[in-house]
Amino acid sequence: MKPNRCSHRDALNHRCRDLVAPSHSFLCYRHARNQQAAERKRQEAERKEREAARLGAELASLSGEYKTASDINRVLGKLFDLLAQNRIDRAKAHTLAYIAQLMLITLPTVRNEIQMVQGFDIWRRSVLRSLALNRPPANESSQAVPPQSVSSAGAPAPVEARLAG
Ligand SMILES: [Zn+2]
Repeated sequence: MKPNRCSHRDALNHRCRDLVAPSHSFLCYRHARNQQAAERKRQEAERKEREAARLGAELASLSGEYKTASDINRVLGKLFDLLAQNRIDRAKAHTLAYIAQLMLITLPTVRNEIQMVQGFDIWRRSVLRSLALNRPPANESSQAVPPQSVSSAGAPAPVEARLAG
C-alpha cells in the first residue's frame, strides 16, 4: 500500500512532512523531482565517462606506442576527425595537437636511441608494424605484401606480412 507521507529523510534523519506525489510511489513532488535530477546527472556523468573512454581508445595509436611518425600521424588524423565532428573540445584538441607536435620533434632522438641501443632491425620492425597497423583493411582476399614495402634479402619476413595473415 502506498504511504501517505514522503519517505525522504534528511542528513539528520528527519523525515519529510510532505504528502507523497500522485506520480510517485513513495516521494513527495519536490523529492521526486530532486531524485530525477540526480538520476539524470548520474546518467550524464556515465555518458561522459563512456565517451571519454571511447575517445581515448580512438585517439590511441594502433601500436600503443608513439615512436614513429606513422603512429603520431594516425593520432593527428583521428584528432582532425573528432574535431570536425564536434566530438572533442577545441581546447583539448589544441592541447593534444601541441603534445603530438612535441612528440614529432622528439622522434629523431627516439629513433637514434632505439637504433643505438637495440639496433637498426628493431627500429625497422617498429616502423613496419606501425605502417601495417595504420594501413586500411584490404578489400580483396589477397594478403600479398605491397611492392613498396621495405624488404631485404636474408632478413626475416617483414612484420607487416606476418601481421597481415
Ligand atoms: Zn519529500
